[in-house]
Amino acid sequence: MDRTAYDLIFCVFAFLLGAAVGSFLNVCIYRLPVDLSINRPRRSFCPACNKPIPWHQNLPLVSWLVLRGRCANCGSRISFRYFAVELLTALLFLAVWQRFPWPVAIAYWVFVSFLIVGTFIDFEHFIIPDQVTIGGMIAGIAASVSVPALMETDSRFAAGVRSLLAAALGYVILLFVLEAGKIAFGRKRIRFDTPTPFTWTKREDDADFIVGNEKSLWSDHFAREKDRLLLQCDAAKIDNHSYGNVTLDFHYDRIAVEGEEFLLDHVNEISGVACELLIPREAMGRGDLDFLAAIGAFLGWRAVLFSLFAGSLLGSIIGLITLIVGKRVWSAKLPFGPYLGFGAVSWMFFGDTFLRWYAGLLNL
Ligand SMILES: [Zn+2]
Repeated sequence: MDRTAYDLIFCVFAFLLGAAVGSFLNVCIYRLPVDLSINRPRRSFCPACNKPIPWHQNLPLVSWLVLRGRCANCGSRISFRYFAVELLTALLFLAVWQRFPWPVAIAYWVFVSFLIVGTFIDFEHFIIPDQVTIGGMIAGIAASVSVPALMETDSRFAAGVRSLLAAALGYVILLFVLEAGKIAFGRKRIRFDTPTPFTWTKREDDADFIVGNEKSLWSDHFAREKDRLLLQCDAAKIDNHSYGNVTLDFHYDRIAVEGEEFLLDHVNEISGVACELLIPREAMGRGDLDFLAAIGAFLGWRAVLFSLFAGSLLGSIIGLITLIVGKRVWSAKLPFGPYLGFGAVSWMFFGDTFLRWYAGLLNL
């Protein structure tokens, strides 16, 4: 056989392997956030009817298409995500295989697998589990020691140290950005000098939130699913329920008061007199710090800076577009993990080109 035939066979293999790995990543994406074991039950099962799925209905890519995205037993819809993750993994495995020498390619296969799991879990749950972030960090350092070319050196020791330092940089730099952001934008506790009237008024799928003279859009106060806003009130009214001295505990989609919960979708107006506003946001972004550290462990320190830059840029553009289009939904807040993942993949394929372009700029 000639070379091109061999090349073709290996490319087909990389694509099929990617599809199969993608199928396993789907299991991780579904099971990790809900603490189900990856190995048990061994067979995949339908989330709707719990029936185990036989192997011939569980072929990557093919089965979803043949069954037209429905469970063969109960007919309930199987999310397009399953197909998308398998196809994305297959394409990335193929692209990585074509672009990089094989030891680097194998390390990058492991890396994109971590990225895909982290990205899709973050999309759905606004968290990235430790198995993905800390696991990714450890895998990245191990990969760098095994394949020192990842860190652009021949020495395993130097590769390990560079990988570790890049991970630390990823953690520290994002910690710095978050803390600086808190100082710049996040006043955490505001005591009003005099009791201040406030109103919350439903407007389409968002709400106007007015405290004293300050008017803001409700969704601007929430970036993450776990974000809260506490309002200590002398008096408050939720539609036609009246309260005396209470604390209103707001989440992005609901409000808790004296043990009762109201979905904000079903509330039209909240008003009252407040004496203190509290924004508890301690755990915010922990997963993102570790995620960027894992990116550093695999790709090195330049990738940390690039991913943060490219991710923030894309985030701002998409934020601006949603603002212009005016399509703001309660849950439409995008988490940061997918942007970092996008930045990391861009670096993997176009980092060289970017560096050459940048060096050219400096020489002008
Ligand atoms: Zn079913």
